[in-house]
Amino acid sequence: MTILQLSRWAICIVIACPLAFGGDPASHPAANNHAQPEVALTFDDLPAHGPLPPGLTREDIANSIIKALQSAQAPPIYGFVNAKRLEEDPSTVQVLQLWRDAGFPLGNHTFSHMDLNKNSVDAFERDLLADEPTLQKFMGDRDWHWLRFPFLNEGDTPEKHHAIAAFLKDHGYRVAEVTLSFGDYGYNEPYARCLAKNDGKAIEELKQNYLEGAAESLAEGQKMSTLVYGRDIKHVMLLHIGGFETVMLPRLLDLLKQRGFKLISLPEAESDPAYAVDPDLSSNWGGTFLQQMMLAKHIPPLPPTEDRLARVDVLCR
Ligand SMILES: [Zn+2]
Repeated sequence: MTILQLSRWAICIVIACPLAFGGDPASHPAANNHAQPEVALTFDDLPAHGPLPPGLTREDIANSIIKALQSAQAPPIYGFVNAKRLEEDPSTVQVLQLWRDAGFPLGNHTFSHMDLNKNSVDAFERDLLADEPTLQKFMGDRDWHWLRFPFLNEGDTPEKHHAIAAFLKDHGYRVAEVTLSFGDYGYNEPYARCLAKNDGKAIEELKQNYLEGAAESLAEGQKMSTLVYGRDIKHVMLLHIGGFETVMLPRLLDLLKQRGFKLISLPEAESDPAYAVDPDLSSNWGGTFLQQMMLAKHIPPLPPTEDRLARVDVLCR
């Protein structure tokens, strides 16, 4: 050790500097607070979600979402499939084809969008398995073993929760968790109504409300992450393949950019060690992963925020 190194050690002992010798910032817990926030976007309810706004087809919606994601240089984005919709409208198969042609993967959202909390574990397992032929067909030898629970309901009793967790493990599935959700699904019906009435003022209100909700959700997710983990974990955002995303997704992507978020894939996000521990809650309430963790760790919930969906639900009636 040279005299220079010795003197640096001495300084470090006095002021406890961890990086004096070029240490890895990632190995220092406090450094994570300054790391770039990361988020995996995910889309539920492929191939069809919500009412079709006048003048749009399901293919138009898929094309618009894919184009916006590609313009933002997004990594492969998971879309979660309810194959029953293909039986109801066979033409929507094009949506899955477009998603795959863009190089985006598909995952399981159950065949019929079944609510585990309102059905038996057996029925849920059959519904989940019924989605698999479609995933196999479109994904080939690529991995599609990710489940997004419909309504984020993971079982209303410990028995159901543990039974489905064991089933998923046996079948090689991982749960596509959600840390950021702002009810984007709630804007599609008012948007279709307001567009049909050509009510531009109400549509502007919808846009404003959506962006405020998204911004609030980012801030809350980051805050809950810090409360639970002492750092900002890699996030997963829940979105839906609905008509209003054709208007809002580019704006949402701009917002994420402004807030410094880097777009990552779902497997990258869930490589964060935070996801290795199941909150192991069973309840009637399908909260996000972070909300469940707050509850499991007895951390008081954040103060309630305005019910934005109630405000938009009354528009253009
Ligand atoms: Zn869904």
